[in-house]
Amino acid sequence: MKNLKLSMLILLSISIMSCSKDSDNNIEPGISQEILSKIESMGFDANPASIIVTKLGYIVEGDILIPKESLEKDYVQKQHVLNVINCATARNVRIKNELGDHVSGDRFGRALKLWNDVGGASTLNLVAVNKNPDIVVRLAENNEIGNAFGSTTFPVNGVPSPLIFLRPDSSYKGQTFNALQWSNIIAHEIGHALGILHTNMSGDETIHIPGTPDIDNQERDELSIMTDGMDTVVPFDVILNSTGPSLNDKRTIRLMFHENANRRLCN
Ligand SMILES: [Zn+2]
Repeated sequence: MKNLKLSMLILLSISIMSCSKDSDNNIEPGISQEILSKIESMGFDANPASIIVTKLGYIVEGDILIPKESLEKDYVQKQHVLNVINCATARNVRIKNELGDHVSGDRFGRALKLWNDVGGASTLNLVAVNKNPDIVVRLAENNEIGNAFGSTTFPVNGVPSPLIFLRPDSSYKGQTFNALQWSNIIAHEIGHALGILHTNMSGDETIHIPGTPDIDNQERDELSIMTDGMDTVVPFDVILNSTGPSLNDKRTIRLMFHENANRRLCN
């Protein structure tokens, strides 16, 4: 009993010490330098002011959720940052709408159709299901995704992100979203769940799709539904007003899931 109290005391002092260290470095409460370094090494913006801390983890670049346990256990390795889902899964990605009667689910089928309509050599096929889903789309509960509009994770080991969250009371420029705009946000999050990064993002661990604009050369796809929405040239309005994936988004999907096994990124 005495030993237990002693170890609790030691534990407590370690916490206090690390708190004061954090404030010395002007780091947001809850984000340690170690976490920031990991986030940066994954190629994401590691400015603490841009990171949302939620009870599930850290939301970087607006809507990409990095679960706490994946950082702590080092599950997120470099090759997993852009880890395309398996080719076989891509031919039948089962997605369940658990948005209830919220407006965000009213055009759910459109979000799936936008990617299914890429066509060409793409083998991607998203299917709405009620049972055994690969991906569930549901409303975020209190503080699951902070003030992000939506969030999800990247695939791990070829498996799509199991969950897409939407924040029901989201608004932008004073306006809540209509069903069409929500379907664009869902399509954007599905893009991440399949393995697509933000168009205006780069990093050592990311794969640049040949023939598409390269942010490292200051080139931008001004119509991409996969913009991060925080770019001054390609703002969030582009996602809200999108009529579907841009030509470059489509090129990306075709390269990820090309019918020719020698020409695709998926395994
Ligand atoms: Zn995003």
